[in-house]
Amino acid sequence: MLRSLSFVCLMALIPSCLVAQRADPLVTEIDRRAKDIAPRVIAWRHDIHQNPELSFQETRTSALVAAQLRALGLEVRTGVGGNGVIGVLKGGRPGPVVALRADMDALPVTELVDLPFKSTKRTVYNGVETGVMHACGHDMHVAILMGTAEVLAGMRAQLQGTVKFIFQPAEEGSPVGGAGPMIRDGALEAPAVDAIFALHVGPGPLGSVRYRGGPLQASTDNFRIVVHGKQTHGAMPSAGVDPLVVGAQILLGLQTIVSRQVDLASAPLVVTVGAFHGGLRENIIPDTAVMIGTIRALSPEMRTEVHARLKRTAENIAEASGATAVVTIVEGYPVTVNDIALAEFLGPVLRRTAGTANVGIAQPSMPAEDFSRFQEKVPGVMFGLGVTPTAVDWRTAASNHSPLFQGDDAALEIGVRLMANAAAEYLRSGKPKM
Ligand SMILES: [Zn+2]
Ligand SMILES: [Zn+2]
Repeated sequence: MLRSLSFVCLMALIPSCLVAQRADPLVTEIDRRAKDIAPRVIAWRHDIHQNPELSFQETRTSALVAAQLRALGLEVRTGVGGNGVIGVLKGGRPGPVVALRADMDALPVTELVDLPFKSTKRTVYNGVETGVMHACGHDMHVAILMGTAEVLAGMRAQLQGTVKFIFQPAEEGSPVGGAGPMIRDGALEAPAVDAIFALHVGPGPLGSVRYRGGPLQASTDNFRIVVHGKQTHGAMPSAGVDPLVVGAQILLGLQTIVSRQVDLASAPLVVTVGAFHGGLRENIIPDTAVMIGTIRALSPEMRTEVHARLKRTAENIAEASGATAVVTIVEGYPVTVNDIALAEFLGPVLRRTAGTANVGIAQPSMPAEDFSRFQEKVPGVMFGLGVTPTAVDWRTAASNHSPLFQGDDAALEIGVRLMANAAAEYLRSGKPKM
């Protein structure tokens, strides 16, 4: 009903239609409740930002979340797939089940933003002392979803179905992550989820929204290639097999997978060797050389194909020189693929909530997202929310994972409205036909 009304409004801009749209009681109530709760969402965000926890260590954050969900009278499950928390809100009327997801973990980054709620926490990570910071904005995701739970809990009688709030740990903990263990622990069952939404904050005009159907973020797989040659004197290479020269050929050969062997017009691909080690001194050709790297793909099919090509390239180049190459690929997160029909459903809701001028199409990017694991099981859409403070030029603002990354509190209320409207509209549409 409302969707067709919105369509007419956009097409014809009939004033009475705009009045009718403004008077939508569900939207009006979400807006009012989001505004009322905004100061508390900001306070939660500051608290979480000041007390960041690394992947797999989110005990304080999950306790905070669980206490809030229990206070709202939701059915709460804790310890789901590690530190995961799930809250189930049953609406007053029967209907589908929509899930909303927030990730809770921070990063080993020393915060350089001068905020009153700046993190001063320190830890030892991989043997190196470092700060801990919500440098990916997950503090905002958690606070927004806590606020959304409160907004929708206050409207439960009107909801035509069930909302499942999924707070996941270890999004930054590839390859294991937090979504996979939560799913194995039944996060998408009892009640079974029909669709899932998530937002991710990042640099962009404050309150702007970017979304798209199809691939949004890349898969991430790590590889290790050990080249076995035959050790010999550096002055007598013919007496051995040089794994460094063979490794160098393999390193270059891997780049031809990207530049010569796949159709880059259909989807981008990155193959990066991040380290190449071998040997001890000038006049010894060593026995082995080792390289490690990462593969990023935006097409699930290309991802699979590249694994085979990488193995073939390394093994056959090695064989051509009388060496051997042992290739190990550790699969991380899959491609984040937004369901196209669900994205088409969501678009008008985002435009209605954030304002048509503030909503645009997202560009795919090569970092990976654990949300992809939920999307492998149920239709899901992740969209982006711009959070750069208005005093800062978002085009040059520090990216996620930078010690200078920052998000403006003013984006939190719009985040709550976006998530609450996405869920409420999905339920009101009665699991839209897709
Ligand atoms: Zn991140
Ligand atoms: Zn993130």
